[in-house]
Amino acid sequence: MSTLAATGIPDAATQDHSIAGLVSVVVVALAIVTAGYFVRCWLFPFTSCRHSDARRLWRCRRCDGTGRRLRVGRRLINHLRAMRRH
Ligand SMILES: [Zn+2]
Repeated sequence: MSTLAATGIPDAATQDHSIAGLVSVVVVALAIVTAGYFVRCWLFPFTSCRHSDARRLWRCRRCDGTGRRLRVGRRLINHLRAMRRH
């Protein structure tokens, strides 16, 4: 019984370790993707607006009829900058 228990503990430990490793890989990948997105928002703050032509006639609220609209990430950067300034 004691040998069975002894082998059971390291097995569980290695399984926990592999899950932790997978989670850390996913977290790192997400961090890289997020960082890349914010770098893109910083370099290219504007993206094309997907409003319809009919919407343009009524002046699109998002882009004010220009067809160029600020990215969500860039808006977040601007918001964080404004918060830091205070
Ligand atoms: Zn628009």
